[in-house]
Amino acid sequence: MLIYSGPVFDMAREQFHIIADYLDIPESDRDRLLYPKRAIAVACPIHRDDASTAVYMGFRVQHHLTLGPTKGGTRFAPSVDIGEVAALAVWMSWKCGLVGLPYGGAKGGVRVDPRTLSLRELEALSRRYMQEMIPFVGPQTDVMAPDMGTNEQVMAWFMDTYSMYQGQTVTEIVTGKPVAVGGTEGRREATGRGIAFLVQRAMERLHLNPARATAVVQGFGNVGSVTALALDAMGVRIIGVSDRDACYINPKGLAVAALEKHASRHGSLAGFSTELAADPAELLVQPCDIVVPAALERVIDAATAERLRCRVLAEGANGPTMPEADRVLDQRRKEIFVIPDILCNAGGVIVSYFEWMQDLQHFFWDETEVLNRLNTVLDGAFNKVMARADRDRVPNRMAAMAIGVEKVRDAKAVRGLFP
Ligand code: NAD
Repeated sequence: MLIYSGPVFDMAREQFHIIADYLDIPESDRDRLLYPKRAIAVACPIHRDDASTAVYMGFRVQHHLTLGPTKGGTRFAPSVDIGEVAALAVWMSWKCGLVGLPYGGAKGGVRVDPRTLSLRELEALSRRYMQEMIPFVGPQTDVMAPDMGTNEQVMAWFMDTYSMYQGQTVTEIVTGKPVAVGGTEGRREATGRGIAFLVQRAMERLHLNPARATAVVQGFGNVGSVTALALDAMGVRIIGVSDRDACYINPKGLAVAALEKHASRHGSLAGFSTELAADPAELLVQPCDIVVPAALERVIDAATAERLRCRVLAEGANGPTMPEADRVLDQRRKEIFVIPDILCNAGGVIVSYFEWMQDLQHFFWDETEVLNRLNTVLDGAFNKVMARADRDRVPNRMAAMAIGVEKVRDAKAVRGLFP
């Protein structure tokens, strides 16, 4: 499986073997569980505004079809390659297994910095990418959603392109769409609100009072900004935030609503303040109660893990903590409570599942129903992870991943080799 290379896939592979050792999975069953069922690479040519033609590489990886269709986001970022996309698809499988959704994991992406495209170019690229994917996706095969660099508008273009090819509107081909075209109430906020809900559960366990707690949030896109607002609403003082252009730290607390307004108006945190500007390398290691990495993978290495001065590490991003950092955090288990990514950010895929179900039934729920059901699923998953971690005295990540891997392993054992 030479095509699955690079640091992000290496990390997913290393994590998987740690779990497989813990679960005593024989060597002969491991490749079948780890390596994706299918990987697609496509060229996406578009006309640029200056009349030139540009070609962007697009990918989609479907990890397994054992439990139902695959499900996963689409990322538009310059880092995208097949190894990164495959790792994200693998993590998505363990996440769906953990929270009990009838999906395998998938992920897709285009290797592009979307900020270099005009709106028209972004639409052309989105439509071209979906058009190339049409033979491989479908509401019962593979359902897309947003991820870094994509949003509700991109999902609307995906849905429209797929639908026009089918000759009828197929809202259930993507989730994370605008409510106006079959999206669900609460999807845009689902990941961030789910993170805040789980932070609250962790704080209850640690006997911490949100009204006296402080937090920093790295990344201020969909996940980071909603998490910051939701923690702020719980009474937590947000003392640091960052995005790719700016970082602000104020131990007295930041005006989160004003930051959010600025970021949605200008597309970035840059230009919000000169006095509060800080070194982004210092953000995650600020003394505070809650650290939320909500941007990129692999931002916490062993040295950063040594320097963390928080009580709760809530992993909003996928794969923010490297295995070498996990070994440090394992030593510091009594000091730092980790809410592992596949649990912490699962709110997104849970509400995506609700959206898919509502689209299939043409029957829609209100926001209260969506959020109540989201909290119920997250609460159940949190309790399962805690019970497993306590029973086997293993770190939270190991408990969470083991539950996810077991779900896939058990389904494969009874189905056979095909899916
Ligand atoms: P987004 O594109 O909306 O936002 C990404 C944010 O990260 C932006 O604010 C960007 O400026 C910032 N960023 C990029 N590089 C950075 C850097 N070096 N330092 C600090 N900030 C940086 O993406 P998103 O949807 O919020 O996704 C963020 C993370 O959450 C990703 O790991 C994604 O896979 C994960 N995730 C997203 C969802 C979802 O529903 N959108 C669900 C689960 C997991």
